[in-house]
Amino acid sequence: MRSIAIGKTFAASALALAVSFGAHAVTDQDLLNDHQSIDSVVTYGMGYQGQRYSPMKTLNTKNVKYLQPAWAFSFGGEKQRGQESQPLIKDGVMYVTGSYSRMWAVDARTGQELWQYDARLPDGIMPCCDVINRGAAIYGDKVYFGTLDAKLVALNKDTGKVVWIKKVADYQEGYAITAAPIVVNGKLITGVSGGEFGIVGKVEAYDANTGDLVWTRPTVEGHMGYVYKDGKKIENGISGGEAGKTWPGDMWKTGGAATWLGGTYDPETDTLFFGTGNPAPWNSHLRPGDNLYSASRVAIDPNDGSIKWHFQTTPNDGWDYDGVNELISFDLKEKGKTIKAAATADRNGFFYVLNREDGSFIRGFPFVDTISWATGLDPKTGRPILKEGGRPGNPADLDGEKGETVVAFPAFLGGKNWMPMAYSPDTELFYVPSNEWSMDIWNEPVSYKKGAAYLGAGFTIKPANDDFIGVLRAMDPKTGKEVWRQNNPAPLWGGVMTTAGGLVFTGTPEGFLKAFDAKTGKELWKFNTGSGVVGTPVTWEMDGEQFVSVASGWGGAVPLWGGEVARVVKDFNQGGMVWTFKLPKDRVAAK
Ligand code: CA
Repeated sequence: MRSIAIGKTFAASALALAVSFGAHAVTDQDLLNDHQSIDSVVTYGMGYQGQRYSPMKTLNTKNVKYLQPAWAFSFGGEKQRGQESQPLIKDGVMYVTGSYSRMWAVDARTGQELWQYDARLPDGIMPCCDVINRGAAIYGDKVYFGTLDAKLVALNKDTGKVVWIKKVADYQEGYAITAAPIVVNGKLITGVSGGEFGIVGKVEAYDANTGDLVWTRPTVEGHMGYVYKDGKKIENGISGGEAGKTWPGDMWKTGGAATWLGGTYDPETDTLFFGTGNPAPWNSHLRPGDNLYSASRVAIDPNDGSIKWHFQTTPNDGWDYDGVNELISFDLKEKGKTIKAAATADRNGFFYVLNREDGSFIRGFPFVDTISWATGLDPKTGRPILKEGGRPGNPADLDGEKGETVVAFPAFLGGKNWMPMAYSPDTELFYVPSNEWSMDIWNEPVSYKKGAAYLGAGFTIKPANDDFIGVLRAMDPKTGKEVWRQNNPAPLWGGVMTTAGGLVFTGTPEGFLKAFDAKTGKELWKFNTGSGVVGTPVTWEMDGEQFVSVASGWGGAVPLWGGEVARVVKDFNQGGMVWTFKLPKDRVAAK
């Protein structure tokens, strides 16, 4: 009996593989349905809206204890740095990116490599926060990703051969790409990194088939956006703001606002949501004003790149509270109405619920234990109410060399950083990977120099508590209440996924992938992957079984920028693997 069953499985695998190497193009419909389809993961976010919610129930709170490894795949070589990627799954093939701008296609049944692509990176790349990559996009017969030298690469998904490569920006000015691009209606859309180098943030759309630029939308007020056709700017295809309105002098020309975490897309309103990073430089006394559109969420028309609305979380940011964190669309049901809402957990410690049709503020509340720089949010506008003495001082007020130091909560690495949260329409809760830390921060004089760090600030990050830094939180967007929390000794730096099986998954720098009960927060399962998990898990169904995958490999910004926190994590070993788990068929009904 046993051998027959195995034989059948092999036959089924071979057949499925044969099919997958045919012309199985990924369609717009596949992308639109990704949040509902269970046999594939074809978007970063497990759906355009970025909820990271799977409708699968096969794996659930009762049987997750039987989840077991199916295979593991090494990223190899000596390039084992932070692995912050989210895999994609299509037709039995996994597409996963790794450190140093690499991508692999792997047989999702066996873990066998199908192809590998290595970007040839120049020596002078300037990634601020480790040589990471967060994932790929897939469309038609191609897979796409961005590189540390600020290029977009399109590969044939079946062979790994290069179809086109486009330069998005000049890496020698400090630009890089680490976020997963997204495809909307045939356009491949990307942001850029580089806010620590005084670059100008932008969002750009390229023809997914040819790589031709379709539109460009800078995210610093004053810079114009343009629409292109056949390589030429279209007359009247211009969108932009007034130069210098919220910036003094020429500061807007090197204003930062990097769109380094990419975006989400809401098909219901046909809107892209991109976040923007800190205004440059960090020293806020050099740029009085709100400094639009830095530290904001920007709603963009995917057809021409024009800005529909913006919501700024930290006006005149003086703490490096980048506003890049993902804006997740969801249906907010209250008072008998369903509101097209969207939510984000900001670096600055506040959680925001917005109306995604017009960007209006619905409510906001702290999601961390301590916020030092603001006493709250204006209930009408959501604008922060600044606390006196919360902003690091102006060097000009002292000796001109160093301004007054303040202790700020959260630290600049944020109440939450890049690692994506998840939303469950079942529990109506957001699952937020967050951290409790503070920083000593002070300002210094600085002037812009192409390709050099443009901060004008010094800092030391410290843990806020003796026994934990990371906190996985379940937050209620209606009440602002923390429904449950799970503290973790090391800072959390990996993404979250939730499922209709009542589960919440996330990883820890200590090496574990963990599953929690979505309602109670009870830890139900864990597995140590051998290195810190700072990737984002996914789940899918294959041959009637439910699988879970996550990249493992400690790294990212914490060991590089973490100050005293870096000491907490100094003994964590590096790695570079993708782990795949499954619930065996005979365990589905197990007690
Ligand atoms: Ca920043």
